[in-house]
Amino acid sequence: MSRIVLYYTFTPLADPEAVKLWQHTLCRELGLKGRILISPQGINGTVGGEIKAVKQYVKQTRAYAPFQDMTFKWSDGGAEDFPRLSVKVRPEVVAFGVPDEIEVDSDGVVGGGVHLKPEQVHELVEQKRAEGVEVSFFDGRNAMEAQIGRFKNAVVPETETTRDFIAELDSGKYDHLKDQPVVTYCTGGIRCEVLSSLMRRRGFEEVYQIDGGIVRYGETFGDEGLWEGELYVFDSRMNTRFSAESKTIGECTHCGSPTSTFYNCMDRGCSTLQLYCDQCRHIPETTRCRTCEVRLQQDPAHPNTGLLEKVRRP
Ligand SMILES: [Zn+2]
Ligand SMILES: [Zn+2]
Repeated sequence: MSRIVLYYTFTPLADPEAVKLWQHTLCRELGLKGRILISPQGINGTVGGEIKAVKQYVKQTRAYAPFQDMTFKWSDGGAEDFPRLSVKVRPEVVAFGVPDEIEVDSDGVVGGGVHLKPEQVHELVEQKRAEGVEVSFFDGRNAMEAQIGRFKNAVVPETETTRDFIAELDSGKYDHLKDQPVVTYCTGGIRCEVLSSLMRRRGFEEVYQIDGGIVRYGETFGDEGLWEGELYVFDSRMNTRFSAESKTIGECTHCGSPTSTFYNCMDRGCSTLQLYCDQCRHIPETTRCRTCEVRLQQDPAHPNTGLLEKVRRP
């Protein structure tokens, strides 16, 4: 019997390198694989292995005082879901590119948005509506993920990576939201811990975040609430739905028909993901991203054609 655990906490770590050595040794001794990221601001990890070993890992990790209240989310899977064990120290737990802007104390990120349980999200929307105010949902993921699922009427910033958020927030595009109630959301909640604090620092006055992110919201309301579409996930499935009722809101890059299936651009080494329907994905000329198409037009003698794959390249 195998299992995976996912976890994070924001808390000051005086000696991230020492935590790294300890965590690496612990995982190796227990035969666990996965990815662990440690920074002066906290830890974020997902590891898998034999269920007894994972239980032991949780127990020993919680024995370290800064991690004693950390929540571990259990999930199906095991060591075989990870290529290796990777334990790294980075300047930030989530790479927004502004380590100096993020302050943490033993209660977590300082100055973040108000935490809401999924039920409280609905209460907020109703309460504000009664006051004549619409709550805005602000997508904290990469824009591509929102193509197949998002909160209804959500604001989706133009982001290819987490680092793009700062320029987006500083662009002035979202200044009309600064005196409005804004609920940030992301897959599991970790990004919004930081994003909501970065927004508040920039003058967004009323910022909320969803405890446990879209995952917990979906477990609570499925497709009966304010969510629409499917959820992009970072494993080989790439997309998952909360129920058989979920709408398909993604559109084929070529013909516009409904689909939730991402494929890598067909050029070798290109990691751009695009949505294709079952018909169009078999037409080679159409399954190249715009950047690679331009490159090919400039240098038609050297096509870089690979295979169209439903995979995420690192
Ligand atoms: Zn199509
Ligand atoms: Zn490409």
